[in-house]
Amino acid sequence: MSYVRDVIEKTIKSTPREPEFHQAVEEVLSCLEPVMDEKPEYQEAAILERIVEPDRSIIFRVPWEDDHGNIQINRGFRVQYNSALGPYKGGLRFHPSVNLSILKFLGFEQIFKNSLTTLPMGGAKGGSDFDPKGKSEKEIMRFCQSFTNELAYLIGADLDVPAGDIGVGTREIGYMFGQYKKIKRGYPAGALTGKGITSGGSLVRTQATGYGLIYFLDEMLKDHGINIKGKTAVISGSGNVAIYACEKAQQLGAKVLAMSDSGGYVYAPDGINIEIMKKIKEVDRERIEEYLKYDPSAHYCDNCKDIWTIKCDLALPCATQNEITEAEAAKLIENGVLCVAEGANMPSSGKAVKLFLENRVIFGPAKAANAGGVATSGLEMSQNSMRLAWSFEEVDKRLNQIMVQIYHNAKNAALKYGYEGNLLAGANIAGFIRVADAMLAQGVL
Ligand code: NDP
Repeated sequence: MSYVRDVIEKTIKSTPREPEFHQAVEEVLSCLEPVMDEKPEYQEAAILERIVEPDRSIIFRVPWEDDHGNIQINRGFRVQYNSALGPYKGGLRFHPSVNLSILKFLGFEQIFKNSLTTLPMGGAKGGSDFDPKGKSEKEIMRFCQSFTNELAYLIGADLDVPAGDIGVGTREIGYMFGQYKKIKRGYPAGALTGKGITSGGSLVRTQATGYGLIYFLDEMLKDHGINIKGKTAVISGSGNVAIYACEKAQQLGAKVLAMSDSGGYVYAPDGINIEIMKKIKEVDRERIEEYLKYDPSAHYCDNCKDIWTIKCDLALPCATQNEITEAEAAKLIENGVLCVAEGANMPSSGKAVKLFLENRVIFGPAKAANAGGVATSGLEMSQNSMRLAWSFEEVDKRLNQIMVQIYHNAKNAALKYGYEGNLLAGANIAGFIRVADAMLAQGVL
């Protein structure tokens, strides 16, 4: 058995009941055989055995009082995975499905994604099984404050810098930053990113993951001689990533036919009206079904998975992990999809990715295509350190340059290590080598 396979098997065996984490380990490590052959020093220093094990995983109690005076208890997590390249960095997710397996998969992927940006950031992830749906503004605030009472002892500008993810946007980061500031008795702006502009946040951070996805997609299509203009797109989700992916795709001339939430999807034959979508999702915080009130020509279907049966040129999964399994991938291929670019983290199952690659669908993997959010968080950290704020145009230009660079780095790594046309392997390899070299230089820790 090869060194790589041996580490995969041992990791799976030693972490029972962590299927999402196993999927991520398999996805990354299985691409690394040619790298290990070229650099035996990685095996001598046990880089793989060390990189699959988080530096530490912290689990804590989060008590809070609901509007009826009842005490509620949730579980909080922070997985500080790897700090070879810089302070731990990665989002916080609030969703009832959150558990250690999901946060370990996200934290593990984050190490390589952050490395791909070439900014000095390690990898981490955290969150809670708290469900923000249906909670009042005050309940959200009380929860965020209680969560921060523990988180505060784990984070800092040079230590660990959390940001948003599913269920955590500018509002939640604002409440957490407020509580953190109170505990620290200062203005420690660099300890959290995704802050509002008045609290030291960066312009473009809200748009960054969605815009970055489209910058990556545009570069990838251009490289294949394809113009995004006039192409039809389907985008799952209607949260932060999906909304700004839709906005930028439309600005570049694509037509977005459908978007979804966990309840169902909306199909708009003339294209989604993004201003209506923003009102429903960002202002009113309503279900996507409400879209029909404003656009009677649209249709609603109450099965969100069926969004992938719509014929389109570009499929952009921007909701959650494993939303495209083998069946959805087969349907997309049957309908002639040209390109799949992942806005969400690990939205395609391993079998779905295999099908895309076998059928020569142009495939932009999450850790490269959705790195724009964390890249802009990195830019927010720089601005906080320098105590200045760049203009929208300045940050947007840097984001665009980073995404174009990530595409070419992943493409070139794939080419160099015998995976021509496989950006998933290229992104894993390019991300891994920087981290492994830093770990080698820093000794056995
Ligand atoms: P949000 O909470 O803003 O939005 C999530 C969206 O996905 C909502 O519309 C939600 O619907 C929908 N959704 C959740 N589960 C499902 C499901 N099973 N089927 C269909 N739709 C579903 O999260 P983000 O937009 O921030 O994150 C989306 C993805 O992008 C996640 O995988 C996240 O890890 C990834 N990501 C986010 C980054 C960021 O900067 N925000 C950076 C990089 C990656 P509902 O409201 O009904 O739950």
